[in-house]
Amino acid sequence: MTEQATPVVVVGGGLAGISFASALRQGGYSGPLTLVGEESEAPYDRPPLSKAFLKDADEQKIRLDVSRLADVDVLRGVRADAIELAARSLRLSDGQRLPWGTLVLATGARARDLPALQGTARPVFTLRTMDDARRLREALKPGCKVLLVGAGVIGLELAATASELGGEVTVVEAQPRVMARSVPATLSAYVQQRHLAAGAQLHLSRRIVACFDGGVELDDGTRVPTDLVVAGIGVQSNDELAQAAGIRCNDGVEVDGFGRSSAPGVLAIGDVARQVEPVSGQVMRIETWSNAQMQGAAAARAWLDASAPPYAENPWFWSDQYELRIQGVGMPAGERELVRGDVASGRFALLQFNGDRLVGAACVNNARDFGALRRLVGRRFDATDAQWADTADLRKIA
Ligand SMILES: Cc1cc2nc3c(=O)[nH]c(=O)nc-3n(C[C@H](O)[C@H](O)[C@H](O)COP(=O)(O)OP(=O)(O)OC[C@H]3O[C@@H](n4cnc5c(N)ncnc54)[C@H](O)[C@@H]3O)c2cc1C
Repeated sequence: MTEQATPVVVVGGGLAGISFASALRQGGYSGPLTLVGEESEAPYDRPPLSKAFLKDADEQKIRLDVSRLADVDVLRGVRADAIELAARSLRLSDGQRLPWGTLVLATGARARDLPALQGTARPVFTLRTMDDARRLREALKPGCKVLLVGAGVIGLELAATASELGGEVTVVEAQPRVMARSVPATLSAYVQQRHLAAGAQLHLSRRIVACFDGGVELDDGTRVPTDLVVAGIGVQSNDELAQAAGIRCNDGVEVDGFGRSSAPGVLAIGDVARQVEPVSGQVMRIETWSNAQMQGAAAARAWLDASAPPYAENPWFWSDQYELRIQGVGMPAGERELVRGDVASGRFALLQFNGDRLVGAACVNNARDFGALRRLVGRRFDATDAQWADTADLRKIA
């Protein structure tokens, strides 16, 4: 059972923290609730930072809904510096000590730096915060040579956006294919084609080994001239607070299905939490918008109600690149892949199976299938390949 001790203090004013606090209030908790966030910015959504926000700079459009935080004590621009477990208090950067009965760590993650870029004379960017996006937006001028290091979701979204803004885009990726961590090889090839068609230069299975005045050198000797560099090589969790307090961590705070850490009264949610991924059974951090929102809210419901079920949503994400809306759920690859729809038409779904179990699905411009597949992934079926491939038939299978 989740211990229901008060006051409740949430550290981190991103999506997970806001979702937790909102769900707690919505579920009827009217006791003391404080949200501590080191950013002085009003809460905002991160996904648009690599997409629409770089083009329209509309800050209002990306603000998170905080209407349910009316009776929440929000401390902005204040950092939590230390957790005192025995005293159940939190030391803040402004010198305050906040008592807590329940402490919720929603501290997220930060962009990884790339040491190989240290010698470059060109400006180097990472993208995690609204300030990062403002700076990048200033620098992205038409005609400028943009080097993206990392062909993951954020790197490729930035490649598409920079190209749409008139930049000359080069992407360097250490893996042999793009989006290798999140989508099957068939989809990597499709996405790669789209970027090449837009004029991007792709260097796969390559690393930066040196910097020269005006660019970088790759491990095959290629010299890439550039005006600015963006490192999109992943994130590392902000779990130092928990580590320093002796809470069990392993690149993220380890939690159970109710968001509970190894320390009584301390929960962790969102990007900083390390949890069992229900489809693969692997323990991992799930760095997606939907997880931050849903796991945050689920932990609040479990705090309010001892009979609430553990969190077991299939993890899913989306990515927008040019006209492609890519959506993925479950495992990126299985033992067998089946195509639904016509890849050449630009609207299709790739289903992944292990035996008769649907373990993952990735869709391109196919929100209708994705809505159904999100619920089907993880289950076993006795449907034939013809039934799966019949584009009108998905609901009958369920
Ligand atoms: C550019 C970008 C694009 C993305 N696009 C997509 C997408 O298309 N689809 C998708 O599914 N996901 C996307 N994501 C991922 C998604 O946004 C994250 O998974 C989500 O924001 C995680 O929310 P969170 O609240 O756990 O962490 P965060 O959003 O990182 O929030 C954590 C907050 O805690 C604060 N904090 C940290 N330490 C302390 C401390 N000691 N004291 C006080 N405050 C602290 C941080 O400053 C931060 O404000 C994207 C992320 C980025 C950066």
